[in-house]
Amino acid sequence: MTKSIIIGAGLGGLSCAVLLAAHGHDVSVYEKNSTAGGKLRSYKLGTHTFDFGPNTITMPWVFNHVLELAGLTPSDYFQFKRLSKHTRHHFSNGSLLDSEDSVEESAQAISRFAGQKDAEQFKKYMQRTAALYHTASSTFFPRTFRSPADYLSPGLFRALLKVKPLQTMHHFHAAAFDDPRLQQLFDRYATYIGSSPYQAPATFSLISYLEWADGVYYTTGGNTAIASGLEKAAKDLGVRFYKNTEVTEIIVEQQRAAGIRTNDGITAADHIVLNGDLLTQFPSLVDESLRPRFTNRKAERTEASISAFVIMAGLDTRLPLLKHHQVFFSSDYKKEFHELFTLNRYAGEPTIYISNSSYTDPSVSPEGDNLFILVNAPSLPGGELTISEQAAYRDTIYDLLEEKGLFIRPHLVHEKIVTPADMADEYYAFRGSIYGAASNKRRDAFLRAYNEPADISNLSFTGGSTHPGGGSPMVVLSGRETARTILKKDGILLDYS
Ligand SMILES: Cc1cc2nc3c(=O)[nH]c(=O)nc-3n(C[C@H](O)[C@H](O)[C@H](O)COP(=O)(O)OP(=O)(O)OC[C@H]3O[C@@H](n4cnc5c(N)ncnc54)[C@H](O)[C@@H]3O)c2cc1C
Repeated sequence: MTKSIIIGAGLGGLSCAVLLAAHGHDVSVYEKNSTAGGKLRSYKLGTHTFDFGPNTITMPWVFNHVLELAGLTPSDYFQFKRLSKHTRHHFSNGSLLDSEDSVEESAQAISRFAGQKDAEQFKKYMQRTAALYHTASSTFFPRTFRSPADYLSPGLFRALLKVKPLQTMHHFHAAAFDDPRLQQLFDRYATYIGSSPYQAPATFSLISYLEWADGVYYTTGGNTAIASGLEKAAKDLGVRFYKNTEVTEIIVEQQRAAGIRTNDGITAADHIVLNGDLLTQFPSLVDESLRPRFTNRKAERTEASISAFVIMAGLDTRLPLLKHHQVFFSSDYKKEFHELFTLNRYAGEPTIYISNSSYTDPSVSPEGDNLFILVNAPSLPGGELTISEQAAYRDTIYDLLEEKGLFIRPHLVHEKIVTPADMADEYYAFRGSIYGAASNKRRDAFLRAYNEPADISNLSFTGGSTHPGGGSPMVVLSGRETARTILKKDGILLDYS
């Protein structure tokens, strides 16, 4: 029986573990933290429960597919509910736009909001982003990448040219919409890949299609049910979990990964999958002399994606202004991204996202709202804040929200702040970033870290810092594709189109 070890119980590692175990591998998962799920984890403050990390869930079929491929019934492990009117957008001039439940209804709302011309433009934009999405999902997502040659296969190269790699997202949106508020709304999706709309390729506008056409979902009981469901599925298939156990070295013998070292000693394996952040963990777990084609300098020179400043606020009431998801946009988006990416500092007037899952599911926070408040933050260095600076920035956020009519402080009963430095400590995230490398440069967007190293065999990489990128469905695709590549070597074909 092939013995596989997975380092890290993030969503990518869990998905890979499920599929390897379902197809005959003896799998052990080592996780330095006490819980599985990585950046998707639960916080409990009094009776208020919060999902940290993924609050906006798209592409639920990706999670279900992993369990189906493992021969399990997905609804035994998690259930998704499509949200109606999933997000309310508040603009700096006080206007509001809700996402509606279909492209046609959203077009009608846009017509009332910005006029008929932009409504027609929106429908065309949805067709164009649908084409981007379908091209990417049939070419980039269902595969792993090992070397630059993989990108140059004729089919993929043709597909690459179709997905607007040379235009920035902002340029694409400025051409699509007359109303600057709509440009700002759709530009925001660049932050879902940790990047700036003024630099990231227009390809990533496909995220707009996912949210506005396919919808945004909530997992019954809280999105952390995705992590606990995958963990349960893995255990049902015989996977062993070693939590609170940090891997300190990947043992390499004759250019082959042969085992891992933890405080408990060395454990041998036939195959090792690294789900911990590739940009921090490959350099720290494998001596540089053993990976000449992935030098420390290469990792250090990588531009980190955006990070986040998060406040989890438990309230003693339900604020009538709030829906499940809302965004309060800043008055100057260009300035905000200039501050974050060029000046590498916190934005003076940030755009503020709030998830209030108790709007949909009061059981997760029975005594009042559970606000997950997120603003974009610079990665490290630049993103570190002293305790008093954290308090001051939190007050800036609360002050901005009060200007928009949302009074949090009088109702606050619990509060926890998470900064980029916390994410670097807790998840070993590269410079405390959310997604590893930024996709600001075309090279970084399309040539993300490969799923296998060039210098060492029997070692694979999966998760947000590798292909196809960050975000909960993408890392699950990464776990699925990594497992498929490993199983193929055993002659087991996971066949799907
Ligand atoms: C604030 C925030 C908001 C987000 N919002 C969304 C959202 O709305 N929607 C969405 O889809 N996505 C969102 N994401 C992104 C999403 O959470 C990530 O892309 C995804 O969860 C990353 O999964 P992963 O497989 O890369 O593993 P990670 O979550 O990075 O987990 C890796 C695990 O490996 C462990 N590890 C690392 N090194 C070692 C070692 N040496 N030994 C043992 N264990 C180790 C870590 O402790 C960690 O548990 C958000 C993320 C954050 C932080």
